[in-house]
Amino acid sequence: MSTEKKFASQADLADKKVSFDKLSEHAYAYTAEGDPNTGIVVGDNAVMVIDTQATPIMAQDVIQRIRAVTDKPIKYVVLSHYHAVRVLGASAYRPEHIIASRDTYDLIVERGEADMKSEIERFPRLFRAVESVPGLTWPTLTFQGEMTLWLGKLEVKIMQLGRGHTKGDTVVWLPQEKILFSGDLVEYEATPYAGDAYFNDWPRTLDALAALGPAKLVPGRGASLQTPEQVQAGLSATRAFLSDLFASIKQGAQAGQEMHAIYHETYRQLKPKYGHWVIFDHCMPFDVSRAYDEATRYPDPRIWTAQRDQEMWKALEG
Ligand SMILES: [Zn+2]
Repeated sequence: MSTEKKFASQADLADKKVSFDKLSEHAYAYTAEGDPNTGIVVGDNAVMVIDTQATPIMAQDVIQRIRAVTDKPIKYVVLSHYHAVRVLGASAYRPEHIIASRDTYDLIVERGEADMKSEIERFPRLFRAVESVPGLTWPTLTFQGEMTLWLGKLEVKIMQLGRGHTKGDTVVWLPQEKILFSGDLVEYEATPYAGDAYFNDWPRTLDALAALGPAKLVPGRGASLQTPEQVQAGLSATRAFLSDLFASIKQGAQAGQEMHAIYHETYRQLKPKYGHWVIFDHCMPFDVSRAYDEATRYPDPRIWTAQRDQEMWKALEG
């Protein structure tokens, strides 16, 4: 812990190694050592992409991997939530439909522009060729609760099972193969970003994911989980991080401590257990800020802007 920590992921410039895992006859996972993942579903007549990468240029690598396994048209993009680093590559796929929950759509209206500016500064490496982004990604089809898409005989359920990482979190579930694409609701050896989270709701949403009984799970970040035991490990580690962090914040807030002290105490407590996870130093200030807000007087996450990012970072890390 020092004043030399660079803002967010600005010091993270080394390329990651991509894996493209075949999970079943219909499902693939594009992962990259803790960078944001993309899920792929190959149906009888069309391909669906779940989360797009940060820019159209970055998305080209996903498209090349898809083309190595199928020449079916990419007709659907599903947004697991609104974060820029996952959605701004959508135009590269030229999909017929971009599917999102109504809550995700509302968040894009309310804070998409501010979030885009803030995330571009947080992740310079992931927004390579940011000039190729044509603007915000707008869903063309929204749903509430759940919807089912039949890709020929393959049933694809697109579901909102509760709030957690954001208000609009959406998962994709293949019931016939018991494969779940969780978005950032679950991470594996990567730190959950909780700057826009609902700490009180997130554990219940994880219960709902576990109740599906996934045999395999593609998390938002980290390797694909390919056995029920690995799925369980991913779910429980995500849950443990959130509850350890929120417990520490609530304790500090109830004792009337100020943010700076609470932040450093929480960082000290969590570092030994989670400090080796990807983007730990990036996430902690944002996660603690939101947890403190929720534990005190803000039931809903406040909008992050590039300016608020910097002010918060200075206050906690400066
Ligand atoms: Zn996210």
